Amino acid sequence: MRAERMLLTGSRRRTVTPGTTYNFAGGPSMLPASVLAQVREEFAGEELAGESGRPTILEAPFSSARFRSLIEDTELRLRRLVGISDEYVVLFLQGGATAQFALVPLNLLGNAGRADYIETGYWSHRAIEEAQRYGWINVASSGAASHFSSIPKPDGWRLDPRAAYVHITSNETADGLEYHWTPDVGSTALVSDMTAAFLTRPIDVARYAVIYASAQKNLGVAGLTLVVVRRDVLGRAHPHTPSTFHYARQADARSMLNTPPMFAIYVANLILQWLDREGGLAEMEQRAQQRSDIVYAAIDRSDGFYRCPVERQDRSRINICFRPANNDLTPLFLEQAMRHGLLNLAGHGRIGGLRASLYNAMPVAGAHTLAQWLGEFARRYG
Ligand SMILES: *Cc1c(COP(=O)(O)O)cnc(C)c1O
Repeated sequence: MRAERMLLTGSRRRTVTPGTTYNFAGGPSMLPASVLAQVREEFAGEELAGESGRPTILEAPFSSARFRSLIEDTELRLRRLVGISDEYVVLFLQGGATAQFALVPLNLLGNAGRADYIETGYWSHRAIEEAQRYGWINVASSGAASHFSSIPKPDGWRLDPRAAYVHITSNETADGLEYHWTPDVGSTALVSDMTAAFLTRPIDVARYAVIYASAQKNLGVAGLTLVVVRRDVLGRAHPHTPSTFHYARQADARSMLNTPPMFAIYVANLILQWLDREGGLAEMEQRAQQRSDIVYAAIDRSDGFYRCPVERQDRSRINICFRPANNDLTPLFLEQAMRHGLLNLAGHGRIGGLRASLYNAMPVAGAHTLAQWLGEFARRYG
């Protein structure tokens, strides 16, 4: 263990220039420094108490008053920050957004047995593939023919009037597209995988029946999946739905039908406190706009050295997907960027190229540093 750690530190010393590093990973994403410090302090401070028998928050029963007040406080903070009314239940589940690809149809298809999906990239494709195992899935529109370079316009969506719901992916993390508007699907329930863009701008929750998001992009660490469900769509679950993933049962149990992901909920609570301190969702929106404007400008300024395949109006503020026009330069780019302290800029494994993920915790200075580096690399190899 010790040798391994020394090796890691050693290799880092060799490859990264001293100074600030920025982590552009697509997920799990970077965390705010002040939140990491709080985590460190909390557990360092309680080490001695642990010896004397007083458990840390992670060692307390989840039914204890201490943990219950933590989960209740987390829910309250989230409701206040996002504006989630009592018409909705807030569930803290496990399994990631990927589990929701199956759990949304299991909980929502009901007697209709059919649903509409909009295919805009890798993650919506995964959602469709999984949902097809549970019902009749209509791909009402797909951007596949244009290589997912834009979000299909809603006037071309062929919606099924008998669909139980319409599913969208608000931000395509691997392809770099984002909905900058909310589709109007009439009285049909709208379901959104908001994993990557959640908490990066204010949202009008009332437009949605279900919102779900894995925590490790903007709400902390892996292990927690947030699911917000409008009460009127509870009660449609297939009888074979596992209890731990049954929206209505978990709502009745306040997400404590079994042991909830306690550490991830603890971190989510710290993230929500951090968001309050930083100025809330309006401030996050402003920063997301600023960061992404800086990086897209550097790409667009490069005279075609870098290419971003996504049409301007649908470009993601969160995941910027691009590549050098000469894709042979990509490995060299990644190696030199790492030496420059710019980490994890490789595109999604299935897509390739480059990707800069700019989640809430990324300082605007990180976007500036990346933009400068993009210019420098282009001058060197252009
Ligand atoms: C990251 C991501 C997922 C997958 O999340 P897991 O927690 O790994 O299941 C699904 N959808 C979107 C849009 C994502 O960004």
